[in-house]
Amino acid sequence: MEKLDIAIVGAGVVGLAVAAEIARRQDELATIVLERHGKFGQDTSSRNSEVIHAGMYYPTGSLKAKLCVAGNPLLYAFCDSNDVPYQRIGKLIVAREETEIAAIEKVYDQGVANGVPGLTMLDGAAVKEREPNVQAVAAIFSATTGIIDSHKLMARLEHQATANFAMLAYKHEVTAVRLAADGYEVSFLGPDGRADAIGCRWLINCAGLYADKIAAMCGIDTAAAGYDINPVKGEYFSVAMGKSKLMNHLIYPPPLHGLKGLGTHVTKSLDGRARLGPNVVNATEREDYDVDPGHLEEFYQAAAAYLPFIGRGDLAPDMAGMRPKLRVPEGTVADFIIRHETEWGLPGLVNLVGIESPGLTACLAIARQVADIVDAGL
Ligand SMILES: Cc1cc2nc3c(=O)[nH]c(=O)nc-3n(C[C@H](O)[C@H](O)[C@H](O)COP(=O)(O)OP(=O)(O)OC[C@H]3O[C@@H](n4cnc5c(N)ncnc54)[C@H](O)[C@@H]3O)c2cc1C
Repeated sequence: MEKLDIAIVGAGVVGLAVAAEIARRQDELATIVLERHGKFGQDTSSRNSEVIHAGMYYPTGSLKAKLCVAGNPLLYAFCDSNDVPYQRIGKLIVAREETEIAAIEKVYDQGVANGVPGLTMLDGAAVKEREPNVQAVAAIFSATTGIIDSHKLMARLEHQATANFAMLAYKHEVTAVRLAADGYEVSFLGPDGRADAIGCRWLINCAGLYADKIAAMCGIDTAAAGYDINPVKGEYFSVAMGKSKLMNHLIYPPPLHGLKGLGTHVTKSLDGRARLGPNVVNATEREDYDVDPGHLEEFYQAAAAYLPFIGRGDLAPDMAGMRPKLRVPEGTVADFIIRHETEWGLPGLVNLVGIESPGLTACLAIARQVADIVDAGL
């Protein structure tokens, strides 16, 4: 059996960023990424809003807040030095009526407490200057929020990882993990469907929607650890190009209670096309990417409250992504889990679970944290 230093499960944006960072720091380590699909980023990393978030929603001191605020400038700098397309387009969180002003002020205060730069409160007239067609009585303007070509980002991260001798093993589906004397024995199904295994000293679980399953394979009681994933679908509807041009920024309503979602909002892609979404649909399957055309009315009503120029005929079902949400008690906000599992008697195992939004924004900061854990344990 081949023995390596580090095996990373999952080639989404997080697994790729971790591989690139570890390989950049120590290219003498034998590092492999095991990915079940034939190429990178086929799950959540290619089914999201591609927004570089600023980090204002999350509780101060949470990993989501810290890694988003740290990850935002890291990502812009990475884009600049690696030719990854982006636009610092800016974002408005709007109060559609007076009664919502308190809710957005709370988000503003949270952002300031989290150390988010570039936040300004706008009154109705200032909103009109930026967005003449949007119905709002006030808004937060976030100057550091932007959009990114996430596919290009992943391609660059993959290149950096392989340039520093990390191996990318596609069509390798991890099926079992066994604790061995000097690390882990990881079993997988290879490209030809045959079972095989490798040994590794470090096992880094970046398996996204299946991160709880990989943790369970390692012997962790995922219910007791709070690692169980309860997938939540987010659907998008596209906005006709003519109407997309009437919006200059990313435009969000106040977030949903308990941060269940950010509210059905306007995202824009780098080509100027606008989409509405994602909504919040409890899912029974981990991979269900169908968009229910019957949800058009729900999207239209959500948009009509602040985008009066959009008609039902401007909307069409677009795409969907699955949030790897942790099952947490009602009323609590789940945080990222990034843990070296020494307490479970599993040294060398690092689990990353519940890496939902803002995981894309935070990917480089997450990668640094994981590489620090590995450095400290080597
Ligand atoms: C609707 C939606 C909108 C979002 N919008 C934003 C946004 O605008 N900005 C932002 O910052 N974040 C956003 N996010 C969050 C962001 O997309 C995720 O945090 C990020 O993509 C997670 O990356 P990942 O690498 O952890 O997971 P994934 O991309 O899911 O990658 C995990 C990989 O592990 C592989 N894998 C799983 N099991 C196995 C196995 N047994 N063997 C081998 N490989 C395996 C999978 O095939 C997959 O490729 C959004 C998420 C959703 C769902």
